[in-house]
Amino acid sequence: MSDLILFWHRRDLRISDNIGLAAAREQSSKVVGVFCLDPNLLERDDVAPARVTYMVGCLQALQKRYSKAGSQLLIIKADPQRGIPDLATALSASAVFWNLDVEPYSQERDRAVQEALQQAGIPFKNFWDQLLHAPDEIRTGNGDPYTVYSPFWRNWSSKPKAEPAPTLENASGLTEKEQKAAQKAGMIALPTAKDLGFVWDNPLLLEPGEAAAQERLEAFCDRAITDYQEQRNFPFNAEGTSHLSAALKFGAIGVRTVWAKTAAVMEQARSDEAQDGIRVWRQELAWREFYQTVMYFFPQLADGAYRKPFQNFPWNNNSEHFKAWCDGKTGYPIVDAAMRQLNELGWMHNRCRMIVASFLTKDLIVDWRWGEAYFMQKLYDGDLSANNGGWQWSASSGMDPKPLRIFNPASQTKKFDSEAEYIRQWLPELRGIDTEALVTGDILPLERDRCGYPAPIVDHNQQQKHFKALYQQQKEA
Ligand SMILES: Cc1cc2nc3c(=O)[nH]c(=O)nc-3n(C[C@H](O)[C@H](O)[C@H](O)COP(=O)(O)OP(=O)(O)OC[C@H]3O[C@@H](n4cnc5c(N)ncnc54)[C@H](O)[C@@H]3O)c2cc1C
Repeated sequence: MSDLILFWHRRDLRISDNIGLAAAREQSSKVVGVFCLDPNLLERDDVAPARVTYMVGCLQALQKRYSKAGSQLLIIKADPQRGIPDLATALSASAVFWNLDVEPYSQERDRAVQEALQQAGIPFKNFWDQLLHAPDEIRTGNGDPYTVYSPFWRNWSSKPKAEPAPTLENASGLTEKEQKAAQKAGMIALPTAKDLGFVWDNPLLLEPGEAAAQERLEAFCDRAITDYQEQRNFPFNAEGTSHLSAALKFGAIGVRTVWAKTAAVMEQARSDEAQDGIRVWRQELAWREFYQTVMYFFPQLADGAYRKPFQNFPWNNNSEHFKAWCDGKTGYPIVDAAMRQLNELGWMHNRCRMIVASFLTKDLIVDWRWGEAYFMQKLYDGDLSANNGGWQWSASSGMDPKPLRIFNPASQTKKFDSEAEYIRQWLPELRGIDTEALVTGDILPLERDRCGYPAPIVDHNQQQKHFKALYQQQKEA
């Protein structure tokens, strides 16, 4: 056995502030990374081309980072259950290290890999890295997992946060002989997203890789975080939020690095407004951790509703309505603008994610899981825990003490896009319509015809009543 430690990257595509990787480097100077292109994930029917494009870009950047640090990132394409132990055996690795994940598939996969490594006599170690607090650290007074966000946040925010882990440096990689052995065990050159069957030609909102994520964090914290509380709900303001979601999803940036930066700006913040901005942004980081923590403890969330009335809900599931929603052709300007943003950018503003999710479930009465799957097919930041959490929150089917939240598209537009800037940006055919009509949605039929814009496919007030009646029935049943 050599002194080589194989570090298996999954959603931690960076060499800085990576707990498992730093532990591997502490134990040995010979640390080699591996990423496994897993057909079980890539062949699912909800994989977004934009997401794969971002991920492959991060892998390219990570290969460069490894090479600068003196080592390599190897790529294999295999079921990890076989691919990882085979590679570790071929390289006579002294151990395999990796960071843990909360998702049900990841946990099942990791158990299988652990068993295979045990059988091959190869030690392994794993670590919690993608959260500021591992799921087990945040419990209620009775030792139970939280199911409600506010008390979770109070506990989570009161706990001290770890400093960023050291960056990988001065590592050594494979010898030529070992490279040949790795090739025999399945090592390949990094394919492009297109080679993998995913075509995304539109620009990505955030360039892939550690350097771009770090720059974005710096720029957001230096300029916009202090106004976050005020600006975060306006979808026309592209600078109002951080656009770090894909970087956090794939671990192009470490969450401790993100926290440390918020602490640095908090120290500089003089006004109450500035401090509130930083605090509210931190609350979003806590939402991310809340949804991951509940996914870890309640994996059944991935399969369906948490609350009983929604477990056998009589959804209408009208496929024409669903298609109109997907295409941004419902006749409700704010909903359509948001769906066109999603289709074009692979990203949608959070306020609009809530609006379109409410519309799909409460106005079109379509099963939230259809929307959840469509989001995953499109979002470049698509993440099971955050997406499922967001959809269950919007559908009122999740762990939410305030059920039946129904968004009125017109009042949401009035509050958050009162000049219809966002609507005009994403619905160019409506640019000539006056603002009041765009905000209320009361566009004359003649004008709709002239612009080639559809009439509303449902009536919001009627559907709202219908939904409430169905909900009441379910509750009583
Ligand atoms: C129906 C629905 C589906 C969603 N699907 C996803 C998803 O697949 N992936 C995803 O990362 N987020 C999802 N969100 C949460 C949120 O919309 C995005 O994280 C946010 O819009 C990303 O933009 P940003 O990075 O500029 O966020 P910022 O406002 O700058 O927030 C900072 C970070 O906090 C985290 N965050 C913010 N809001 C939430 C939230 N409500 N839940 C969990 N984490 C949050 C993200 O990591 C985000 O990057 C969803 C929300 C809803 C309502």
